[in-house]
Amino acid sequence: MIVYGVCKSCHNHLSLNVLADTRTELSKQIGASISKKCNRCGVTTTFAANQLKAKLSKRIRHAVLEVAIVGVVILSSAYYFLTDITYIALIIALYTPLAIGYVWHTRRNFKLIDTFNRSKA
Ligand SMILES: [Zn+2]
Repeated sequence: MIVYGVCKSCHNHLSLNVLADTRTELSKQIGASISKKCNRCGVTTTFAANQLKAKLSKRIRHAVLEVAIVGVVILSSAYYFLTDITYIALIIALYTPLAIGYVWHTRRNFKLIDTFNRSKA
């Protein structure tokens, strides 16, 4: 999960290096407000805790994509190249826990993000 503010000038997402599950926790860390300089347009925006939002981190977004791609590749290659049903079953048995793990992790993150975005400082 990434906490970010939107640049007032170019609407670039400015991620902040903070660890907080709610805006209450966030305001304890940053105080009344936090200033961040935009790395795209150079304008500094000052954010109050209530103006900051949470979103899914890039790492997790990539992981979701990777799992989806690997799943498609595995299933299509299993369909085209493998005729041994036990081999296909083995591949699916190995892949399924991995996919479930990622889904669980992502869902947990969405919940955290939702909690953060609903909370008030
Ligand atoms: Zn900007």
